[in-house]
Amino acid sequence: MKNNSSLSHRKEEPENGTLYIVGTPIGNLNDISQRALNILKNVSLVICEDTRQTKKLMNKFSISNNLISFNKENSLNKISKLIEELKTGKSIALVSDAGMPGICDPGENLVSEVKSEGIGVICIPGACAAITALVSSGIPSSKFIFEGFLPKKNIDREKILFEISKSEKTTIIYESPHRLKKLLLDLLEFCEGEREIMVARELTKKFEEHIGDNINNAIMYFQDKEVKGEITLVIKGRKKEQQQELDKADLKRDLKELMKAGLSLSAASKYLAKKNGIKKSIIYNLN
Ligand code: SAM
Repeated sequence: MKNNSSLSHRKEEPENGTLYIVGTPIGNLNDISQRALNILKNVSLVICEDTRQTKKLMNKFSISNNLISFNKENSLNKISKLIEELKTGKSIALVSDAGMPGICDPGENLVSEVKSEGIGVICIPGACAAITALVSSGIPSSKFIFEGFLPKKNIDREKILFEISKSEKTTIIYESPHRLKKLLLDLLEFCEGEREIMVARELTKKFEEHIGDNINNAIMYFQDKEVKGEITLVIKGRKKEQQQELDKADLKRDLKELMKAGLSLSAASKYLAKKNGIKKSIIYNLN
């Protein structure tokens, strides 16, 4: 007889002593599943980034439950207490303000510690801006790199921009509206203007927009506008045939050799930057 145990659901939810990671909408409140609503209604407590935000969602579906704040500032102090609650048999739902908890939102540490205690963790999948943008971009979506928000510190940022410029895989980036223009200019510098891109604005909401089709055009589109709303970028990988002989490992090796021959880091970087037509700081940071 065919074993269907993996298809049907296990027990009635929520189960005692279980942490539920619940995906919530990224704009359109109708993007919530029946299963998520059932969990939010019936767990012992709901831990959320901002109780006011989660309350809006609960009110929309006429649900009420105990809401406890669990955000960037207070989450680390709360983990051991939550683990105790789970051990006493309580069920807990973790939500963020929008989308999947743990994706540039609190949750990662809690899940890792709860799992290390051997406590059950179940995800109720929901919307995620990265995946929503990716699959609607028309840009290859089977292999991709998710960078989240790029670092602000120049050294770290340039390293990642360099990696993106070299990557053959699609890259997804989150960005705030007031930093979008700077990011597009950085991408222009590292990836050049012809690189295919989609800037997804306000996904799932009334004024959803997909702006592209390449970096040059996205810059032109936004240049005289005040950027508003939530933004996710999808950047196509570099085409194989466009690959220059600019391998990071090769650059590192060349840098080492020049320094061995007596050049300072600065002089060697300057030389290689000129030779390869890229910024000196990129080579400098490879050391
Ligand atoms: N956990 C969320 C998820 O699963 O997508 C992401 C949280 S992160 C703090 C917020 C960022 O996600 C925003 O700054 C934006 O880059 C992206 N984002 C969230 N909602 C979006 C939307 N409706 N349209 C475009 N990007 C969105």
